Amino acid sequence: MLSKEELEKLYKAGEIVHKTLEKALDIVRPGARVLDICTELENYIISQGARPAFPVNIGINHVAAHYTARIEDDLVIPEKSVVKVDVGAHIDGYIVDAAITLCFNPVYEPLVQAALEALKVVKEILKAGLSLGRIGSYIEKAIRGRGFKPIENLTGHLIKRYELHAGKSIPNVDNGDERKVLEGEIYAIEPFATDGKGSVIDTPQVTIYRLIATPKKALKKHRELILKIQEVSQGLPFSPRWLANKVNLSKDELVKVLDELARENVLYAYPVLVEEGKGMVSQFEDTFIVKNDGCEELAHTLDLFRR
Ligand code: MN
Ligand code: MN
Repeated sequence: MLSKEELEKLYKAGEIVHKTLEKALDIVRPGARVLDICTELENYIISQGARPAFPVNIGINHVAAHYTARIEDDLVIPEKSVVKVDVGAHIDGYIVDAAITLCFNPVYEPLVQAALEALKVVKEILKAGLSLGRIGSYIEKAIRGRGFKPIENLTGHLIKRYELHAGKSIPNVDNGDERKVLEGEIYAIEPFATDGKGSVIDTPQVTIYRLIATPKKALKKHRELILKIQEVSQGLPFSPRWLANKVNLSKDELVKVLDELARENVLYAYPVLVEEGKGMVSQFEDTFIVKNDGCEELAHTLDLFRR
């Protein structure tokens, strides 16, 4: 069970994520620079006394996940786009992960609503004892019932201290997984809806990494860099942006070294994920504490969309 101190850290992280998403609703609009958005939201998290649990993800249109601004990035939010903003913050390793979709094209409003409604359903039904597959079936039904497809190879996830994906996954479809969610567990649950194929594929592009090992050889060769990575990320996903002014490498050199470390399995490289059928993608996410008689939301994502 979670102690009072642990709960306080989670509640505080949740409040900060909520306020960060509220800020995103203000600043994310066509013409805005993605680099400015990521920087402003991450700095806001820090200003509130937390740390980003991963780089702010901005997923435009068919980009589903794992895109954050690069060190120099001219990308701007396009007109008539559908934009996912996925934010994580932690206090002392206690992580809250949540996401919203902003819709700048009325044509896609039903697609956005489908993922939102699925998250509402999750909030209503989630409680200890439910199987992972059963939760997925509720998400799947909510999305298919609105004429769209859930993305079957993106999932919610059990969260532990300093561990974003701690084993069990909550599918967006009924995958038959009979393992149960247990009282006191913390899950990020993130329905994704699409008008495409219903799955994502890797692209060659990488904008996010995570430190997974410190082999001696790599440690010797890139000791200063790896220690910096540990300092800025604490084992959680990070952006090269967070290192740019902290290491004695040019931007190009830094990205080259990070890719080299990924090939040596010192770093994990997250490929940018796109919808396989080039479909439009919507996503809503919150982090929940599972209880015997229900659940408790931490970021209160849905409260941002009460109309
Ligand atoms: Mn997320
Ligand atoms: Mn998540």
